[in-house]
Amino acid sequence: MSVSYWQRRRAQRLDADYVVVGAGIVGAYAAMCLAETGADVVLTDARHPAAGASGRNAGFLLSGLVAYYHDAIAQYGHATARAAWQLSVETRERAFALAEAFGVEHARCGSLLLAVRDEEAQALEQAARAMQADGFAAEFTPRDPLGRGFVAALHKPDDGVIDPVALVQALVAHGGAQGVFDNEVWALEAHAGGVLVRGARYEIHARGALLALNAYAPLLVPELWAVVRPVRAQMFVSAPLPERILDTAGYANDGYEYFRQSADGRFLMGGGRRRFKAEEVGWEDRTTPQVQAVLADFLQRYFPEVAHAPVEQRWSGTMGFTPDGLPVVGRVPSIPNAVFAVGFNGHGMGLGLKTAERAVAHLLHNAPLEWLDVNRLSGTTPTKAQGASA
Ligand SMILES: Cc1cc2nc3c(=O)[nH]c(=O)nc-3n(C[C@H](O)[C@H](O)[C@H](O)COP(=O)(O)OP(=O)(O)OC[C@H]3O[C@@H](n4cnc5c(N)ncnc54)[C@H](O)[C@@H]3O)c2cc1C
Repeated sequence: MSVSYWQRRRAQRLDADYVVVGAGIVGAYAAMCLAETGADVVLTDARHPAAGASGRNAGFLLSGLVAYYHDAIAQYGHATARAAWQLSVETRERAFALAEAFGVEHARCGSLLLAVRDEEAQALEQAARAMQADGFAAEFTPRDPLGRGFVAALHKPDDGVIDPVALVQALVAHGGAQGVFDNEVWALEAHAGGVLVRGARYEIHARGALLALNAYAPLLVPELWAVVRPVRAQMFVSAPLPERILDTAGYANDGYEYFRQSADGRFLMGGGRRRFKAEEVGWEDRTTPQVQAVLADFLQRYFPEVAHAPVEQRWSGTMGFTPDGLPVVGRVPSIPNAVFAVGFNGHGMGLGLKTAERAVAHLLHNAPLEWLDVNRLSGTTPTKAQGASA
């Protein structure tokens, strides 16, 4: 991105102890964690809070990762798989606690991962067994608890749903940071032992910066091109249905399709990109007829009463995917006081809060990052399993 002389000379100076760039779930919560230490914190965004994926998702608070648990153990090793899974459990609990504290709409309705094929059913059974062995709540059923033609299900009783925009807005309103929005950041520089964040309206001087840009990170930090890539996800919402047909967070087809009924009766559904992975990349915000047709076919087969309900709205959002399916935290090589936390692989509601805490501890105290450390990516191969992904 470039900026003209005329635009730049209008930017005003702001000073803070720390600046957080990106006001999604990760940045809004990181700003709150930093402000809780007594620091003077600025939270800035190109648009407004929850303008990115955090305001466009399904609001599922799921424990888990992209991969099934037994596949995660095979792919990452047992210790890392267990630690990453535990981080998702703790994130979910933190999100529910914040929702309670701030009066954000949420429900601990459990989740059902539903198989549409026999091999998928076998994977769910293996996943449930591996989870149980490590003390994570999960129950396999070799039939469809919804009675809609699925083959089997994995039930996670403690999962739930939340209004993602309300949560981000509450974190911004109560988090104690100064919000500076409509301020597209176009450059970051190491400056006077700290960081200079050059935005369209404000140039922010701070001791340190936390970059919570997820899929947008490589646009600002070219070093991150190899770390996170933009992947589009699409959704729609129906008009309110005349009755309640679903009281859980459902996802199926290895997690590629996901659906729930909102408190006001609307049916929310997303996914449909499994056959269109080559097309569903980049930052372009639009829905496509072919992906929306996959969603319509799924509804026709498993929820025919919804297939006839009017669709009120369709939308898309941009997720940040890493080569191995786990989020990453690290320091920008050329700007040591800038820490990034990105790459939530379609699970940022489920992994973001606790990852943000780890990133803040790293920025403040150089706390070890362990499996979250970006350095783990040197020499890895792209992710093997693709379960449960937005
Ligand atoms: C359709 C869809 C459904 C999903 N469903 C779920 C789900 O049910 N459960 C789940 O766990 N996850 C889900 N996800 C994934 C989840 O939404 C993301 O992982 C999460 O929101 C990432 O949060 P974030 O704060 O890291 O990034 P974002 O929310 O994308 O925030 C990044 C912010 O950076 C700002 N920004 C970008 N560039 C600049 C710049 N140059 N200067 C200043 N600011 C900038 C953007 O405006 C944006 O506000 C879904 C995603 C999509 C798209």
